[in-house]
Amino acid sequence: MTESVRLPAVNDMGNYEIRLESIGGLGANLCGKMLGELGLRHLHLNSASFSSYGSEKTGTPVTAYIRYCDWDKDIRVHSPVVHPHLLCIFHDALLSDSGVLAGCTKDTVIVLHTTDTPDRIEKRLYRLSHRIPFQALYTLPAQQIAMETHSRINVVMLGAMVKAMGFIPLLSAEDICSETLGKKYPDALAANLAGLRGGYEAAKLLSMAKESADTTSKTTAGNAGGNTAVASPTAASPMPAGGLNPHFGNSVANDLSPSRQGYIPLFIQERCINCGLCDSTCPDMVFQFEKGMYRGREMMVNRGLDYYHCKGCLRCVQVCPTQALVKGLESEHPHKEWFLPNQELIRRPDYYEKTGADGYITSESYLTEKRIEGGEV
Ligand code: SF4
Ligand code: SF4
Repeated sequence: MTESVRLPAVNDMGNYEIRLESIGGLGANLCGKMLGELGLRHLHLNSASFSSYGSEKTGTPVTAYIRYCDWDKDIRVHSPVVHPHLLCIFHDALLSDSGVLAGCTKDTVIVLHTTDTPDRIEKRLYRLSHRIPFQALYTLPAQQIAMETHSRINVVMLGAMVKAMGFIPLLSAEDICSETLGKKYPDALAANLAGLRGGYEAAKLLSMAKESADTTSKTTAGNAGGNTAVASPTAASPMPAGGLNPHFGNSVANDLSPSRQGYIPLFIQERCINCGLCDSTCPDMVFQFEKGMYRGREMMVNRGLDYYHCKGCLRCVQVCPTQALVKGLESEHPHKEWFLPNQELIRRPDYYEKTGADGYITSESYLTEKRIEGGEV
């Protein structure tokens, strides 16, 4: 079904612009592509979309950009979206990096995946030092909806974005979902459509009237048109040159937990035969084996998991021959039993002073470390 739509706002290039801030593994890249195709094939618009990756690894930051303009105009800019009309944040852990909010204007509508209460969200946004305006903030518990509908976070967020933008018919979004995901994953199409509708229905406009009143007097003249105000763009607090980015989704910080999608592997030690299959299967060095005794013999023994580094792919659960690893709901295990940080991955600040912003475990960083310490490589 093709609908002609009217863009609610455009910049001086005639474009309506969207930016998706996400973590590798949540499907923002595919979501961006679907939004791009949606404009072109179903909304009678010109559109362009592309993504940017920090690295190929699941758990690292991913940003996707989409532009729409009227059918009879050309999109003449192909750089990242700086001042989005719609900003979609796929995980509220990303709010620890104020850069995700960079470039918001009084026309920006924000969609945020979070399970926080409105009060806490207000406080979290408020805590960041500087303020910028935005037009509206929609929130939804996207992961919970994805789990309930057996879909993925990206389709749930797509439904929420359709609601927040207000000019795209839900039916058109369902069509693009059916065309794209129906071809790739036909068995999962019904679940994905349910996730899309779930996101559309669950996205709630957050009232921040208290903040608005409070911030009106504090916003600058340039910001005065905004309804409310939140955190700083990077312009106000630029990243130090050559510095580290100690935020979620960053390989250096080793915390990949936001890339999990509601499930974790649970370890039942008494069933473990220390075969090591989980360790050789896990892509992220999560399992902690140490010398120990098992059935009267000295051997490497599985001591637990480094959940900071587990991205929840559950490959270990599939390979474990004794069901010593089982799939569990993360929300039911907030205090993770058998959690054991991987000591080899823990870096003190002086490590980076000596080595610079090195990767944490690539063979190249290992070699660099050896060279710096004067070792043979
Ligand atoms: S695969 Fe299962 S049995 Fe083997 S070491 Fe891992 S947890 Fe233990
Ligand atoms: S789910 Fe299992 S295999 Fe996947 S990252 Fe976590 S520990 Fe490793």
